[in-house]
Amino acid sequence: MRLRLSGEQIRDEIIGRIETLSGQDLGACYQCGKCSAGCPVVEQMDIAPSEAIRYLQLGHPDIVLDSNTIWICASCFQCASRCPKGVEFSSICDALRAIVLRKRVSDPKVDADELARVMVSDAPQMGVVGALRKLNG
Ligand code: SF4
Ligand code: SF4
Repeated sequence: MRLRLSGEQIRDEIIGRIETLSGQDLGACYQCGKCSAGCPVVEQMDIAPSEAIRYLQLGHPDIVLDSNTIWICASCFQCASRCPKGVEFSSICDALRAIVLRKRVSDPKVDADELARVMVSDAPQMGVVGALRKLNG
């Protein structure tokens, strides 16, 4: 894919938001690829973790926000445990999902009231909290 780069894109406001929300320094990644190599679900992702970080470094959050990667990530922290720079890709995914979901807050994937009726009596508490956190931001 051919990308156009500009200083404005690289300093994009949304990139700053992703760093603030995730607590991660995107510039710390030096593209060694260990995160992608160790991810147990990378085959299901349309952009590998290291690739996603590179797009963000280059000022193209749109590509990562539209990818299935941020929804496929299972938050297992395997990538973070392998990263020589201490980058937590799952935290970056948390931030990206929050940005997507806050944009479409009028159309949440999980309705808390509905969830309460259907699941709360049977589902594990952590599962309910996790679903709301992951799917509703
Ligand atoms: S936290 Fe997400 S990206 Fe990292 S290894 Fe696990 S599933 Fe893959
Ligand atoms: S393991 Fe860390 S430094 Fe290496 S590509 Fe992944 S995020 Fe970047």
